[in-house]
Amino acid sequence: IGISRFPVDAQDITTLLSLSDMAMYEAKKQKNSFCIYANKFRSLQRRKVEIDQELYTALKKNEFYMVYQPQINRDGTLHGVEALVRWNNENLGNVGPAEFIPIAEESNFIVALSRFITRQSAQDIYDVQTTLGITFHLAINLSIKQLFSQNFIQNLLDDLKLFKDNYEFITLEITERLFIEDTEHILPILNLLTEKGFELSLDDFGTGYSSLSVLRTLPINELKIDKSFVDDMLTDRDACVLSESIIKIGQNLSMKTLAEGVELEAQVDLLKFQKCDIFQGYYYSKPLSKDDLISFILNQTS
Ligand code: C2E
Ligand code: CA
Ligand code: CA
Repeated sequence: IGISRFPVDAQDITTLLSLSDMAMYEAKKQKNSFCIYANKFRSLQRRKVEIDQELYTALKKNEFYMVYQPQINRDGTLHGVEALVRWNNENLGNVGPAEFIPIAEESNFIVALSRFITRQSAQDIYDVQTTLGITFHLAINLSIKQLFSQNFIQNLLDDLKLFKDNYEFITLEITERLFIEDTEHILPILNLLTEKGFELSLDDFGTGYSSLSVLRTLPINELKIDKSFVDDMLTDRDACVLSESIIKIGQNLSMKTLAEGVELEAQVDLLKFQKCDIFQGYYYSKPLSKDDLISFILNQTS
């Protein structure tokens, strides 16, 4: 439901309707929700249009780059890295992915951007691995639109061709939100990815809508415990019990568990006690440029 009010928001029916329509659009981002149009909304909308316009030329202008956040095993060794995109725009400055990815998702731009993300990450991580003579996981975030785009799998394989058909160290992160869309269409794609040898990780686990029975049918290798549980686990008994339960579910379904957003040693200790396998967060490292990642790994192994 979108709501606009006479006479505060507008005085004529056409504008009122168009404002309530904008509010409805915003409300539809969540299930069973409503949104009241406010003046603030107008500036948000303006920002969105600005970002949308800048996005289109940003790829050509080379404004995107990738950073990599280490993921650490229980024994302190490097499990892998998560590739995260960054955008420095000439007019808007740094815009975070949490802001621009949803806008890119609304247009089809995410499809082109995702191909850049995959190619650049593959190139960077291939370089790091050959420079250091080691192998580790590369986790790439998949967007929903990308997954349903034409030739998705063929494009993905093309963009990862440096790895020569050897995808066991490529982890594809999908979000739980994906399963609001119908599972029937997604399952064959996920099965195909598994057949090709990819690892699949369920991002933001515990925040979305996937039921446990859906989880059982999915070819998932890893559960990512959402940062919100990790944030609260030291102070909130429910968050603590939930992270323990998620880890148990993972173990029972033969999935690894990875905790994200780990910032404190006490969180690591508790998560280790709960038998979590892999850890990612500022406690270990912020997302790093390719060169800083090389230094991080060299430091870690020395
Ligand atoms: P996400 O996939 O859940 O990524 C984790 C986010 O948490 C990242 O923010 C990361 O920088 C941040 N983070 C990691 N450790 C900590 C910590 O200890 N404390 C705090 N406060 N934050 C931490 P980022 O890079 O801003 O990304 C936000 C979201 O944007 C991502 O959430 C993901 O949904 C999306 N995104 C980022 N890069 C990509 C990409 O390359 N492709 C797609 N499709 N989405 C992306
Ligand atoms: Ca992720
Ligand atoms: Ca996440």
